[in-house]
Amino acid sequence: MRLIIFGPPGAGKGTQASLLETRRGLVQISTGDIIREAMKNETPVGKEAKAYVEKGELVPDTVVRKLAENAIADEDYDDYVLDGYPRTTQQAEWLTEFCEENDTPIDAVLSLSVPDEVIVERLSRRRVHAETGETYHLDHDPPPADIDPDLIVQRDDDQPETVRNRLAVYRDETEPLEEYYESRDLLLTVNGEGDIEDVYERIDSVLDERVATRA
Ligand code: AMP
Repeated sequence: MRLIIFGPPGAGKGTQASLLETRRGLVQISTGDIIREAMKNETPVGKEAKAYVEKGELVPDTVVRKLAENAIADEDYDDYVLDGYPRTTQQAEWLTEFCEENDTPIDAVLSLSVPDEVIVERLSRRRVHAETGETYHLDHDPPPADIDPDLIVQRDDDQPETVRNRLAVYRDETEPLEEYYESRDLLLTVNGEGDIEDVYERIDSVLDERVATRA
């Protein structure tokens, strides 16, 4: 199955994509993770991306396109969930073309809907493991006590000012993709509020339904 998981920053895309990986065998392709890794390793892409990421801006389309297409090709064009890509109409159009050229169309686009006030709360309480990238929430999913607290950090782009900018960028550039995918009959909207497991169950059942109706 070829999926996109879509939603505002903090909607839980990464968390749910990683559950889809372990439970439905879809490889999680996160352009954000790929970019953060490149920044950590100070590769040319990482150096180019840094200024954008730190301000909560989008990295230029042409840069991200290559990262996403290479990652999809690495998975033999199937059984993946794209987390954080596409984020602009241009990226979505390129992705549609890329998938058509390879005769491997996207099967569904999951849209996680979460109100702004919940997002701001989630991101201000989100922490990550500096080495593994594992994410936690200080209240709902705290880091295990045996982890060195110095390794538990806040992402620079989770600072309140940057979060506000990321949300504005999301509304302007990314939200219009809902219509793009709705008009292609691919959009499946899921309520992203509540427990991680509850949200996963909703996702799992809409995917099962989609598989059954398309079979
Ligand atoms: P994420 O972890 O998905 O929130 O991504 C973190 C940051 O990486 C974003 O705020 C952007 O600066 C950059 N990024 C990730 N994916 C994309 C994309 N598809 N297009 C442009 N920039 C991206």
